[in-house]
Amino acid sequence: MSEKVERTVIIGSGPAGWTAAIYAARANLNPLVLAGDGFNRDRFPGGQLMFTSEVENYPGFVHGVSGQKLMGTLQEQAERFGTRVETAVAAKIDLGRRPFVIQASDELNSREFVVKAHTLIISTGASANYLGLESEKKYENLGVSACAVCDGALPRFRDQPVVVVGGGDTAVEEATYLTKFASRVYLVHRRDTLRASKIMAARATENAKIEMVWNSVVQEVLGNDQDGVTGVRVKNIKTGSTAEIACRGMFAAIGHTPNTAFLRGQVDLDEKGYIKLADAFRSATNVPGVFAAGDCADSVYRQAITAAGMGCKAAIDAERWLASEGIH
Ligand SMILES: Cc1cc2nc3c(=O)[nH]c(=O)nc-3n(C[C@H](O)[C@H](O)[C@H](O)COP(=O)(O)OP(=O)(O)OC[C@H]3O[C@@H](n4cnc5c(N)ncnc54)[C@H](O)[C@@H]3O)c2cc1C
Repeated sequence: MSEKVERTVIIGSGPAGWTAAIYAARANLNPLVLAGDGFNRDRFPGGQLMFTSEVENYPGFVHGVSGQKLMGTLQEQAERFGTRVETAVAAKIDLGRRPFVIQASDELNSREFVVKAHTLIISTGASANYLGLESEKKYENLGVSACAVCDGALPRFRDQPVVVVGGGDTAVEEATYLTKFASRVYLVHRRDTLRASKIMAARATENAKIEMVWNSVVQEVLGNDQDGVTGVRVKNIKTGSTAEIACRGMFAAIGHTPNTAFLRGQVDLDEKGYIKLADAFRSATNVPGVFAAGDCADSVYRQAITAAGMGCKAAIDAERWLASEGIH
């Protein structure tokens, strides 16, 4: 009996993965999604938006939508056209032979199995780095965020002071963006100069609404159950002194980690671990038959809608590649 080879396996179940699944299923590719096993946050089925209360910028929802509702709806839509779902992660992958071999693992249920596939769509996302404070976890969605574009316009931050932590280009971008809404933006950085490029750094230091808090780290996020974040306690690492900054939000802008460790040595990654695409308009990687979509291949935009758009491209590219190889 010949073993089963999937035509298309999609790794990851965020906006990129589900959109790829919708398109692949409607193209009769009968895709299998490895949705993540929920072992930790980076591997949660549904992806990052499962931890976000309100998504206000995903087109089609006039009054916004909860992250969980949005992801549940995308999954239902994908399943309606025949997408199959396994609650598991791709633990190991061999792209050196055809068909590709994926060792899948569901750590929560101590389950392992092997999947073979003619085409792969990788959409494993990139996780925002947080400071790692208990108090930061406590106030997530109550003023703590890692995405100014996503959350900056929420009523909670309007005309209120906020804190951004970080010193690179992203931190400056986030701080500058937040000046549109916040009354004041404190940029807390552990050094006395920004790591950001000169032009970006100048943008921050010359902006009257941004106040630099040099040589400092956030020790604790302050708040209460009713109001959420009310301030942060910062420590000056040169003098050892501490101070409180009153604010309604704290944005961690200390980078992202793409969930691509399992791909090392199998597909080309850039120095930060993002999957390299063959060109900016397509989803092909350096391995024929392997396509990438969403935040794992996008260090620039990192939005649900851009991830979904990339998922659409990847499914169309996979379908065309299968046809060009004569695989039906
Ligand atoms: C706090 C916060 C708020 C946000 N709010 C908004 C917003 O309001 N609007 C907006 O547009 N964007 C928002 N974003 C950004 C948005 O969440 C991401 O851009 C989007 O989720 C990226 O989609 P994705 O499909 O590429 O990856 P993700 O949504 O991160 O999904 C990755 C998927 O891959 C799975 N996975 C990971 N590793 C493996 C593996 N080895 N095997 C199998 N599966 C794996 C995960 O379980 C998950 O299912 C927010 C982000 C954060 C952190």
